[in-house]
Amino acid sequence: MLTFFKNILLSNFGLNYKLFVSFLSFLVKGCLNKMIFILGHRLRSMNTVAYTNTDTNNNVKECTKMIEKVEKLDMEKVIENFERLTKDAEKVQRETLKRILEENASAEYLQNLGLNGRTDPESFKACVPLAIYKDLEPYINRMVGGDVSPILTGKPITAISLSSGTSQGKQKFIPWNDELFETTVQIYQTSFAFRNREFPIQNGKALSFIYSSKSSQTKGGVTAATATANVFKNPGYKHAMELLKSPSVSPDEVIFSPDFHQTLYCHLLCGLLFRDEVQLVSSTFAYSIVYAFRTFEQVFDELITDIKEGVLSSRITHQSIRTAMSKLLKPNPELANLLHKKCIGLSNWYGLIPELFPNVKYVQGIMTGSMEAYLKKLRHYAGDIPLLTSEYGSSEGWIASNVNPKVAPEFATYAILPQIAYFEFIPLTQLDGNEVELKPVGLTDVKIGEEYEILFTNPAGLYRYRLGDVVKVMGFHNSTPEIKFLRRSNLLLTINIDKNTENDLQLSVEAASELLAGEKMEVIDYTSYIDLSKEPGHYVIFWEISGEASDEVLGECCTCLDKSFVDLGYISSRKSKGIGALELRVVRKGTFKIVLEHCVRLGTSVSQFKTPRCIGPANNEVLQILLANVVKNYFSFAYI
Ligand code: AMP
Repeated sequence: MLTFFKNILLSNFGLNYKLFVSFLSFLVKGCLNKMIFILGHRLRSMNTVAYTNTDTNNNVKECTKMIEKVEKLDMEKVIENFERLTKDAEKVQRETLKRILEENASAEYLQNLGLNGRTDPESFKACVPLAIYKDLEPYINRMVGGDVSPILTGKPITAISLSSGTSQGKQKFIPWNDELFETTVQIYQTSFAFRNREFPIQNGKALSFIYSSKSSQTKGGVTAATATANVFKNPGYKHAMELLKSPSVSPDEVIFSPDFHQTLYCHLLCGLLFRDEVQLVSSTFAYSIVYAFRTFEQVFDELITDIKEGVLSSRITHQSIRTAMSKLLKPNPELANLLHKKCIGLSNWYGLIPELFPNVKYVQGIMTGSMEAYLKKLRHYAGDIPLLTSEYGSSEGWIASNVNPKVAPEFATYAILPQIAYFEFIPLTQLDGNEVELKPVGLTDVKIGEEYEILFTNPAGLYRYRLGDVVKVMGFHNSTPEIKFLRRSNLLLTINIDKNTENDLQLSVEAASELLAGEKMEVIDYTSYIDLSKEPGHYVIFWEISGEASDEVLGECCTCLDKSFVDLGYISSRKSKGIGALELRVVRKGTFKIVLEHCVRLGTSVSQFKTPRCIGPANNEVLQILLANVVKNYFSFAYI
């Protein structure tokens, strides 16, 4: 047996004999398994490559491969690995499920479901029910309360992720563990490898609008932070980003500041100071990039003065940030003059990004779904620099990578990584048909052109979890589906027989905002709500716009909004006066910033913020902010 271990260690790890002897004493203490686990775990946190093996010997080999990859990531290997895993996605899914169920076999939740050690998909589906957050909430609450017994997971979770909660007005507590960080790295690496093949970047820096929201301790002593903050805080994050040639221009003190306004200002300042090194501009969701450059328009004079004088603006009050920034900031009138000239030379800030950052290769972030609303503005800032949508995932776990980065975000698809979770899909026809029993299909059984609600089983205690997103299968990459994000599954606007989703609202806003574009104005942001205060109820759309449009134009926009909802239930209800005329309420400039600040105060991270597209009853505070800021309102003339 000793010879066996000696061979493994000497050949696989390349350890010298002296190290082997010291390792031997460790072994004698009976710690081999533990050490392999810790070593593997540590290395995986540093630089993960996709793998599916649970076998110890194979783990050792994987770890060795990882050691070799720590200094430099071999992009072709990442792609090869992805190709290998997606060639037999069904097998990988079976292995993934097996791994998750074995690791969590002692969890009370699974024990109560009578799996009795079975890990095959058929038994799993027969024993384990579909779940929404509410079903798991009592278990999660115990974990939040500090109960470390195996409840949803075999091992205690390491933290709680707070979902953005923008749609429901209430944050969810999602179990987080190191495996979720590993899957994050796998997703990042896969997207990057494909992106870099088409749009190679040099070693440089990324102007990343990332914000690590405050973390807190739950009553039970569990650390709670947003999922993005859990990623940024992970000791392996910085290294992972270096391997992806995307280290942030900003020091940690900036990223981890509790005040997002100060963080944003310093991100912009660092971007300008390192302007020649910036190879890409990024954020988790595209919203943050647009928000950042809108802010730039307002503060550029101040930023340039800081650079000229080498003194940080007094708006930055956090001492740790001031100290960190003072190390970077020296008087540089030459750079200040150049930037000033560049900014005043732009027409309405068109092409701001390449003007400021001459070596930028692309702008990257999640740009699909509700983020499409910001693409127009983003293109305006980006000029001829490509916009690349990155990944698809959620606080609950990652799902897919964009492996066709050349495709414009409006048409982008995401290829599911079969090793990061066990995926199932509920055909939308089942949901529409009010089926009594939902029968989700497996990852490789989905059909091209069909729409599905996605559910997954992840390594952090979510089993057959309904994420609430609707996707459409557009094709396959090998045997894994390439999906397009369509919308959140819950209905957004409905009064009686009408059914309008966030997608329908987006299309309606897009159509109506064309009328504003003719006036050289744009919709900065929008949301909606159902006003039932008078009979009949009607849709209200809130708009913040960039200038002063005439009443005539806004009245036309309002009618256009109304007419653009093409759902038959809506049209017939409007015609029969079962639904009243749609109302457009224009809010004061800056209102949506107040909404953002409100959500951030409640714990949302700017990195994950998504403007709620419909204000439900649970979101009364946001509604009050909007109502208090209405400056004009219009009623539609359609259907009279
Ligand atoms: P959160 O967990 O609050 O950060 O939000 C996760 C949600 O954001 C997902 O459930 C989706 O609705 C949305 N989302 C994430 N990635 C994408 C994407 N690539 N395209 C469209 N929507 C996305």
